[in-house]
Amino acid sequence: MIKVSELSKRFANNPVLKAINLNVKQGEVVAIIGPSGSGKSTLLRCLNLLEKPDSGIIQIGEVTLDCQHYNHRQETELRKQSAMVFQHYNLFKNKTALENITYPLIVGQKMDKKQAMQRGLWLLERVGMVDYANQYPITLSGGQQQRIAIARALAVRPKVLLFDEPTSALDPERVHEVLQVMLQLAKENITMIIVTHEMEFAKYVADRIIFMANGIIVEEGLAKSIIDNPQNALTQRFLRQLTDDIDFQI
Ligand code: ADP
Ligand code: MG
Repeated sequence: MIKVSELSKRFANNPVLKAINLNVKQGEVVAIIGPSGSGKSTLLRCLNLLEKPDSGIIQIGEVTLDCQHYNHRQETELRKQSAMVFQHYNLFKNKTALENITYPLIVGQKMDKKQAMQRGLWLLERVGMVDYANQYPITLSGGQQQRIAIARALAVRPKVLLFDEPTSALDPERVHEVLQVMLQLAKENITMIIVTHEMEFAKYVADRIIFMANGIIVEEGLAKSIIDNPQNALTQRFLRQLTDDIDFQI
């Protein structure tokens, strides 16, 4: 489903992704963990071409793109293969929940309005938000907004959903409802790459965990074995720090 080869990206003198190789199978859920600044967001953004990679090859579904030579049509095609869910939801503030979902369908996909509304309502139903269809984002909680953002990402039928720390801006009591929706999608065999700090969730939902540090994939493997039995010293230290934080809070 996804094959990334030797993907590299630098910002000025800062090499942020160093020849990343990554394969994700259809229906697989991959969690990416790692310290702040390790390149996790940049990796996701490069897959969607929100950031322009310097070199490497990205294949998603049937579309392959050589990052050094591509045209506008290839760029559009690759973008259509994935949809992103951001930490801060990024909903249109002047559109209702339903309009946030129908907009990319009507404008991007030229779907007729009635059909887009039907699909929008069905998607809101799936994320438990159909009763809020006509409300504006500002009147909704963070968890509710994020569920709408997930519905919007699903609307365009992407081959893969990319989540960049989807729960880290939420109040603790709102985290669960978003993770619940993501768990449901995982059960429906939707291919997902999730950058997250929710280790318990990652362990339970992800098929595989990738630990990134300093722009490289340091370690990857089955979720349970990476979290319970990390081999690399950097992974061990990262996971230990997370647990130490919890001890400290208690
Ligand atoms: P993570 O998501 O793992 O915290 P990021 O991918 O956001 O890491 O960032 C990796 C590195 O790239 C950081 O050093 C960050 O400062 C740098 N970086 C990210 N985006 C930009 C940008 N638009 N311009 C310059 N540097 C950036
Ligand atoms: Mg990030």
